[in-house]
Amino acid sequence: MKVFLFLLLSAVCCPARAAAGRQIAVRLYSLHKTASVTVEPANGGVSAAGRFLGGRGRVYARGSSVLLDGILKAGPAKNLRFSGTLWLSGSGLPRRLYKGELIFSAEKGLLRIINTVPLETYLAGVVSGEASDLSHPEAYKAQAIAARTYTVKYMKNHSGEGYNMCDSTHCQLYTGLGQISPKAQAAADATSGEMLLYKGEPAAAFYHSVCGGRTEDMTYVWPFEYKPYLISVRDGPPGLPYCSIAPGFKWKTKLYFTGLTRLARQAGWLVSDEEAHGLRISAWGPSGRAAELEIYTQRRRAKVTATDFYHGIGRRAGWQAVRSSFFKLLPGKDYVLLDGIGNGHGVGLCQWGAEGMGRKGFKYREILRHYYPGTEVAVHD
Ligand SMILES: [Zn+2]
Ligand SMILES: [Zn+2]
Repeated sequence: MKVFLFLLLSAVCCPARAAAGRQIAVRLYSLHKTASVTVEPANGGVSAAGRFLGGRGRVYARGSSVLLDGILKAGPAKNLRFSGTLWLSGSGLPRRLYKGELIFSAEKGLLRIINTVPLETYLAGVVSGEASDLSHPEAYKAQAIAARTYTVKYMKNHSGEGYNMCDSTHCQLYTGLGQISPKAQAAADATSGEMLLYKGEPAAAFYHSVCGGRTEDMTYVWPFEYKPYLISVRDGPPGLPYCSIAPGFKWKTKLYFTGLTRLARQAGWLVSDEEAHGLRISAWGPSGRAAELEIYTQRRRAKVTATDFYHGIGRRAGWQAVRSSFFKLLPGKDYVLLDGIGNGHGVGLCQWGAEGMGRKGFKYREILRHYYPGTEVAVHD
């Protein structure tokens, strides 16, 4: 009864605190395959498998069991639970600081690490990584609200796998707490509990690095349900977009047909004997971005959505080659030149545009209203 009353009271009187008290389970090193991790308490000691661990240890997988080795030994067990603040590192793994609860388990000889952490702590980590190039406090606040809303909206991204979010850009990049910037922490604190709402519910707060002058209507990028606030908006005065201050606002990439053939075969756009001889844009979105491309081969035109093209090339050749789907194509002899602007998918908040707006004196609520028309910022539990 007491618990029920407390929940009722907190829901009525303190929604900000209720939101701030939320926890999130994040899978760590989700893109790495690792069988062994070094754990090192950051502040003297941590709780490890119900005991005190005062120094370095090594957690490793054996089949579907995990073991702790070092001054303290534990396992084999189905899972090992740590709590406190600790550094993780290992061969091929970046050294990172985490706090909260960490549960290690194993599957087919590989480790699976789930970190349960307060949502606001996670958020400060995400914003530190996502906004690391930005400097204006209002841009940081806008980013914090977009990331908080995105997190709450997509909490179930991996629920079938036993956690909420992975730590890669598939969900949101989260590299722990070692690099938390004071600006990110200040923005998370200043906007505590605030979210971007559409008709009272958390919005699908997609964000990207540089729109290039105009954001894109979501339905031209992903075949998801239409969202009235994820439409194409012009990012600032004509000829002078807010995000034009971004380094690398414009880019050019030569795509040789030999390279395009290889990538297109790997991606399954072409079959093994087909060769790319040309590339053209066959449909555009309202922003001017490519929506669909055609690869010319010796016998047909293979259609590829611009989103598949952007992701397919990025995943195989790095994200610097084709930075967005906002480009013109200029034909060469054995290549095509992509003359592009912007960086990222172009949907929702433009991070560098937010920075530009901040520098021009706009406040974070105005920034968010600009990129997500029809939404409002309010505390939501
Ligand atoms: Zn994910
Ligand atoms: Zn922009």
